[in-house]
Amino acid sequence: MKAGTIVERAAGRSTPSKNGGSSPTPLRAPASAAVDEHNGAHVERPALTAHYIRSRIGKICVAITGANPAEMLRNAEDIVRENHFVEFRLDYLPNPLAVIPKLKTFLYERGEVTAIATCRRAATGGKFKGTIAAELEILEKAALAGAHLIDVELQTAEHLKPAQMKHLRSRGAALIISYHDFEATQDLDKTFDRIKPFAPEFVKIVSTAKHLTDNVTMMRFLERRRDEAELIGISMGEQGTISRVLGLRAGSVFTFASAHAGGETGPGQIDARTLREAWRVDQIDVSTKVYGVVGNPVRHSLSPLMQNMAFRRETVNAVFLPLQTTRLNDLLTLVREVPLHGLAVTMPFKSDILKHLEKTDALSEKIGACNTVVRAQDGKLYGFNTDVAAVVRPLERRLQLKGAKILVLGAGGAGRAAVFGLADKGAEVFVWNRTAETAKKLARQAKAKTIRKEQIAKSSFDVIVNTTPVGMRGVKPLSLLEPKEINARLVFDLVYNPIETPLLLMAREKGLPVVTGVEMFVHQGARQFEIWTGKPAPEEEMLRVVVHALRQQATAQS
Ligand code: NAP
Repeated sequence: MKAGTIVERAAGRSTPSKNGGSSPTPLRAPASAAVDEHNGAHVERPALTAHYIRSRIGKICVAITGANPAEMLRNAEDIVRENHFVEFRLDYLPNPLAVIPKLKTFLYERGEVTAIATCRRAATGGKFKGTIAAELEILEKAALAGAHLIDVELQTAEHLKPAQMKHLRSRGAALIISYHDFEATQDLDKTFDRIKPFAPEFVKIVSTAKHLTDNVTMMRFLERRRDEAELIGISMGEQGTISRVLGLRAGSVFTFASAHAGGETGPGQIDARTLREAWRVDQIDVSTKVYGVVGNPVRHSLSPLMQNMAFRRETVNAVFLPLQTTRLNDLLTLVREVPLHGLAVTMPFKSDILKHLEKTDALSEKIGACNTVVRAQDGKLYGFNTDVAAVVRPLERRLQLKGAKILVLGAGGAGRAAVFGLADKGAEVFVWNRTAETAKKLARQAKAKTIRKEQIAKSSFDVIVNTTPVGMRGVKPLSLLEPKEINARLVFDLVYNPIETPLLLMAREKGLPVVTGVEMFVHQGARQFEIWTGKPAPEEEMLRVVVHALRQQATAQS
């Protein structure tokens, strides 16, 4: 309905906010009685209530940017097909005032859209180079153009005279007073107490997570103060991802998302589709179990995509998040405090985590590495290794491992899983590693043999397995072996990005069957899913979603 904006907004203004029951008491100022004159026209618009805004919005607000007004509005048209709650980052425009007429038409025609107007100055972390007066003029015009909320940074609010604030608030939009800390997560209560006297409809406090436990600090703050105001709380940065999701459960009214990957307006922002479709933030509640992949780096891990899809498919009320950290203690505090129900463990923690576990399966103990952790009801942590089965099973499906002659390249974490697992199945395993000493040690422990590089071309194997990162996108050399050194019935490369590695392409050239690292990746993930949920994993769908994502990445990079 074209006129919807005007009709609904009028209704919104006259809707009293409900302060009873469990709903928070809004920090709302009394409606302004001032009558202003603006360009000769009398304008008095009491601010929209928080209650009304909440009745219109979902959990995700998508930030819209653009290099010029036309591009910003084009982006807006795209975004509002899927998200009706958006933030216009006017500070991204060289001349923000130029977008106002277009914004007015857009908001008039799109009655279903709820819009925040933000024009954050460079001094407070935004891109607007103008003065406070210029910022105010832009926000005021955006409010008159139909923006439902305007975002004013705390430092700006503190700089304004009461009359200026009153004037701004008489323009009809609800007020967000926000504070951004680009350094740390600290003084959240103090910041809240600074914002409180302004009585805005919404209080937004954004910190930076330097550690995973900063998310806990943010969530505890939200839980503590959620009854005092309509709060939005987020921790930025790679380590802050959890707050963007679980903050909603702790009391954040909504969270911010980017329009697409690469379109972030804040460090660590996640794109709207991932938040909504993969992580299902709309459905997270108190009984949602939380899992995550821990390591450094994990930003580009495909585990969240794969595991969240499996949770959705098998209707498990759970969410799986990337947990980036360099410190194990940081992780262990998070596990206790959130609490987390399970972990997929990657580099560099696969060995170090062992000493923090109550018990591990025999294989993890023997290998000295664990990639899967479960938190039992008693809060104790138990470890498993699904990497081993993920190397062994794809090969077992194709050949008899007992007595098979297998060359394993590499003796790191994955190499150890391969050598122990295959030797355990009765294969005759030969290990080659760049650092010969490591290969010798592993061979001794796993009752395998070592082989020198020059012997490889003269030998033939049932299987050659690459467990080094060689072949990964961006890693040099492209392959450890030349075609003449590939004398085998089957070649298995653990590297899965790209799916078709140089080693696998060489093997195919020679007419040899191959096993891709994707098969292993999905297999280890499927076993993790089963350990965590007790349900059979939807392995085919997991494979499909991972292959699709890798192909998309490859297309984007080519
Ligand atoms: P890691 O513990 O760091 O071990 C790396 C191994 O590769 C070491 O043996 C290292 O030799 C060797 N290496 C590294 N760079 C090399 C180079 N340029 N030339 C020759 N050898 C080199 O790593 P990881 O956890 O075992 O992982 C290794 C690879 O397996 C990664 O690419 C990972 O993505 C892949 N992986 C895949 C899956 C899957 O599900 N498909 C699962 C786990 C791992 P030195 O001892 O001489 O340093």
